[in-house]
Amino acid sequence: MPKTQIVKEKEIVHKMIAIYCRGSGHGKEQLCPECAALLEYAGKRLDHCRFGEEKPFCKHCPIHCYNKDMRAQIRTVMRYSGPRIMLYHPLAAAEHLVSTVKQRIARK
Ligand SMILES: [Zn+2]
Repeated sequence: MPKTQIVKEKEIVHKMIAIYCRGSGHGKEQLCPECAALLEYAGKRLDHCRFGEEKPFCKHCPIHCYNKDMRAQIRTVMRYSGPRIMLYHPLAAAEHLVSTVKQRIARK
């Protein structure tokens, strides 16, 4: 079965949080409690995303469903991991980029 959009986005979020957590010296093998909570929160938001499988990547989502604190936290993570994910997970990053571009084109 091909991976769904939600599953893919969850994987990306997980990778980005892991890069951030390890890189910031929070946790080693596992996510620190704070980052684990953020990941869980992000997962729940994705599960409840009203766009379901049609969803755009959250970055481009017209509805920002994160609460203020979590949004600030995920933004820090994205800023940190955005450039780094290209090094650690070039394939996942490239795929994300392609989907993003496709969505942009599709919306025009
Ligand atoms: Zn952490």
